Amino acid sequence: MKNSSDKKYSIEISQKEAEEIRNAIKAASLKVMDEYIERMKKSWPNRPEAMQYFYDIAKFFGTREREIQEAKEEGKKVIGYTCMLAPIELILAADAIPVRVSSGFYDPVKLGNRIVPVEVCPVVRSTIGVEMIGLSPYLKLSDALITPLTCDGMTKLSEILSDSKPVWTLYPPRLKDSEQSMFFWREELRTLKAKIEKLTRTKITAKKLKAAIEIMHKATRAFRRLQEIRKDAPVIMGRDAMLVNQTSMWDDIKRWTEKTEELCNELERRIREKVWACPPDTPRVMIAGSPAIWPDNWKLPNLVEEASPQGVIVADELCSGDRFLFDPVGVDEWTMDDMFKAVAERYLLPSTCPCFTSEDGNKDRVNWLTARIEERRVDGVIYHVFRGCMLYAMEYMRIKRVLDKINVPVYYLDTDYTREDVGQIKTRVEAFLEMLKSRVEF
Ligand code: SF4
Repeated sequence: MKNSSDKKYSIEISQKEAEEIRNAIKAASLKVMDEYIERMKKSWPNRPEAMQYFYDIAKFFGTREREIQEAKEEGKKVIGYTCMLAPIELILAADAIPVRVSSGFYDPVKLGNRIVPVEVCPVVRSTIGVEMIGLSPYLKLSDALITPLTCDGMTKLSEILSDSKPVWTLYPPRLKDSEQSMFFWREELRTLKAKIEKLTRTKITAKKLKAAIEIMHKATRAFRRLQEIRKDAPVIMGRDAMLVNQTSMWDDIKRWTEKTEELCNELERRIREKVWACPPDTPRVMIAGSPAIWPDNWKLPNLVEEASPQGVIVADELCSGDRFLFDPVGVDEWTMDDMFKAVAERYLLPSTCPCFTSEDGNKDRVNWLTARIEERRVDGVIYHVFRGCMLYAMEYMRIKRVLDKINVPVYYLDTDYTREDVGQIKTRVEAFLEMLKSRVEF
């Protein structure tokens, strides 16, 4: 731990103050999580039994936190990451526990505001805030953090977090499709691999890397199976599918895979029996843009699926959602070189993050969106942007033009980590759903 005088950004906050704020936010968050889960259950009363597992594991300050704490006491290392460009396979291959740590808590942004201006994206301000008071169990338990420098906010966040933990930055090249970029990215991952090995005192051998890739292949299969199920009439509500997706970021991934397969078995049975989660003519919505992170930032999914008229989220294009486990590592030969190359490619090439650019204007993102829109028969897209998130905001016009051409309505919705705009957003979301409903009925 550094002395306060050595810290680059962090400000002094007394232990007493930190504890008081932490306890107050923790108590409020426990209530929020319970309330949101109850609301999800209410709008899908005949939900499958297998969903209960995900509601339980979604609760922070509970089972999963205790499990990770116990694993740490037995000598395991925990490696947190802030963004989906962090290679999970390398963490697993070193017998460490991966956890995503970007914060979805609203109240800690006020603490983050003491260090960075309010114009900064709320994910960043909240992550700073939770670190200041030790609120996030997974951030607190992390022995080191992988921070891909995808945007300005994430870049400076990594410096701020390095005041309290070892931070390993990963610098993704902004242009993906060139030999130099791929070479550079592989070197970045090679450096990262050495750091992981040093922290965990575990050599990432070919055998270990192969086992980790196979674990993640199974997770991707389960993940894709769930997404496949969402293609036709709604057999699962979007919020529930989003929660399943998101719990993969802190759960034990093998157990998560088994539980997701169990859920898919139940859902497929329901498809055969035509038991729908909501009426099949409910407007089908996609959420694109800045991430919706559990627990507090469930604002938009709640509004869409509790609106009048109701919408159902059949797809999202969020780094916290449908994109997360979608792409498998494509290995040709199970040699160390080939596997390593395949891991590097998997995290760079399919990524549709707006931090990338190309002559054709991030065509990968456009292709991803249009393919999902067609496959999931999306009626309309809500383009969700946090104030301060320049990358998603700036790409809006590009995406809107593409969606206009294929006649899919898109609605730009900017928000922040606050509960104060719920009423105003509700009115806007309902007007959009009303318009989608009239198109569906036409
Ligand atoms: S939401 Fe936008 S600004 Fe915030 S961390 Fe993600 S990409 Fe960066």
